[in-house]
Amino acid sequence: MGLLHCHAVGMAALLSCAAPAMAKTVPADVVFTNGYIYSVDRKDHVYQALAVKDGHIAYVGSNVKAARYVGPATQRVDLGGRMMMPGLVDGHMHPLEGGKSLMGCSLDYQALTHDEFSQRVRACVANSALRRPNGTLVVRGWFQEAMKPAGVRLTKEDLDRIDPRRPIVVRSTFGHTTLVNSVALRMAGITAATKAPPGGEIVHDAKGQPTGVLEDVAQDLIERVDPPLSADENVQAARASLAAMREQGITGFLDAWALDADLSSYAALQKSGELTARAHFAPLVEPATGTDVAGNVQRLKSIAAKYDQGPIGVDPGITVRNVKFFMDGVIAAPELTGRVLQPYYVNTGTKGAPDWVPGTSLGPAPYFPPAVLGPLLQGVVQAGFDPHMHADGDGAVHIALDGVQYVRAHLPHADFRPALAHDELVSPDDLPRYRPLGAVAVLSFQWEKEGPDTVDAGRDFLGPERAKAMEPAWPLYKAGARIAYGSDWPVDRLNEWFALKVGVTRTNAPEAGEKYAHPLGDAPGLPRPEVLRAITMNSSWELRSDTLTGSLERGKLADLIVLDRNVMQVPAVDIADTKVLLTMVGGRVVYNRDGSIPLKAVAGTVP
Ligand SMILES: [Zn+2]
Repeated sequence: MGLLHCHAVGMAALLSCAAPAMAKTVPADVVFTNGYIYSVDRKDHVYQALAVKDGHIAYVGSNVKAARYVGPATQRVDLGGRMMMPGLVDGHMHPLEGGKSLMGCSLDYQALTHDEFSQRVRACVANSALRRPNGTLVVRGWFQEAMKPAGVRLTKEDLDRIDPRRPIVVRSTFGHTTLVNSVALRMAGITAATKAPPGGEIVHDAKGQPTGVLEDVAQDLIERVDPPLSADENVQAARASLAAMREQGITGFLDAWALDADLSSYAALQKSGELTARAHFAPLVEPATGTDVAGNVQRLKSIAAKYDQGPIGVDPGITVRNVKFFMDGVIAAPELTGRVLQPYYVNTGTKGAPDWVPGTSLGPAPYFPPAVLGPLLQGVVQAGFDPHMHADGDGAVHIALDGVQYVRAHLPHADFRPALAHDELVSPDDLPRYRPLGAVAVLSFQWEKEGPDTVDAGRDFLGPERAKAMEPAWPLYKAGARIAYGSDWPVDRLNEWFALKVGVTRTNAPEAGEKYAHPLGDAPGLPRPEVLRAITMNSSWELRSDTLTGSLERGKLADLIVLDRNVMQVPAVDIADTKVLLTMVGGRVVYNRDGSIPLKAVAGTVP
């Protein structure tokens, strides 16, 4: 790195050692100067200059000292005061699904009226390029809960009016509901007599006819109309996901439910030199197989043997070191599939005159009973994997922490990094357990706001105390928990900067309107340094890449981004509109917004 170690003393040292150390610094590939370089190092130091050599950070510090790294072939970039920070590491997302959401027709998660919905779908119908090879138009990004006015219900007739001849399939953003037109119902063979599969519902009208709305597992019935994507289409989706990530400044991610389609698609893109983010994958352990520890471990090992590429290097690679478990579903109405410690409330009054009182349901039975979870986690940890547990309700969080505690007790020297994803509700008694158990809370900050899916859907089913305690980022932070960020894309549209803004303010976007303008709950937002650390250093820790990514420090990989504004200094509300100007991964420029940063491809690192 250009650092000479000198052990000689006296005059000899001055001549033969100190002087060359000053003069013979190896020239860097790129030297950035005059920046606001937010390092996310231990003390969040801010520097002026940074030098990149062979994909690594050769120097970070002052303009004056950075000048030593400038040689004849070095590219020099004057940042003009702009902010640079580590590349974003998204600790929980579903990138292939996200990529699919960018293909075809999308309603962009917008709150639409009935007419706006029809106009948007009609525009897609007119564009034949948006259809699947079999002719089906798939419409994604339908924010069903946010339809205006609240309570609007759509049926097959709404789609029949747009196109009565060709199949249309509309997918909701939450993934629980699909709406189809009459042609699609016919093609799928769904009639008034069709029975819904267990765990699903075919919604019927007053006359007993299917309305075109299919819930949960019943969505599988239209597989003939909207078949699984081909391998080529999957690669296209993966490619689209990476383009979106580069633009947001994402240089690493965890695929938090990795199927073979995910792994093979990103592996294919790596081969063609198109993998522009460090890709981490967490295959799923199904609850039904929970007692088969050996079988699961063997399956996970064989997936890792096929795809994992070992320690990360300069060019983005693929790791399979995390394993996904679902502890529960979601604590949102009407699903109420989150596991809670105290019963959900039920309305014993009427809709007009409600009377919410504690009921008897704690949500579904634990997906992994505690007696099964402990030994299962132990086996997975012993095999070298880090558990990544979806835990939404406080009951699920409690069980997950107990599972971690079990492993800590049985394997006191094991080096493992358990993650609890979502943590939307955490019992006050469990808040202080994260830190000593070494568990990281992977939060989705964008949920910490009022919106159609919280205010309108109501939180009465939790009772007043728990409703106020939703999204406990602040109490977790105060309890010393390590907090990482995961977008859960495409449950929400990919917008990391909006999420970071919500993490600070706990408010919705001003455009969302007066109704949702209040901060969520009583707790404050997180300090900005903590929010930025969550999506860089702490998510790198979660993915075991913290010695090489997550901060801008000498010797680490040059995974960095340059922003159009200083997110430490602008009003918090403006963080949401941040534009990334430059994304660099392992010293390679993978995104340069409209060429705004005068920087050519960096030699030696382009595949
Ligand atoms: Zn998820």
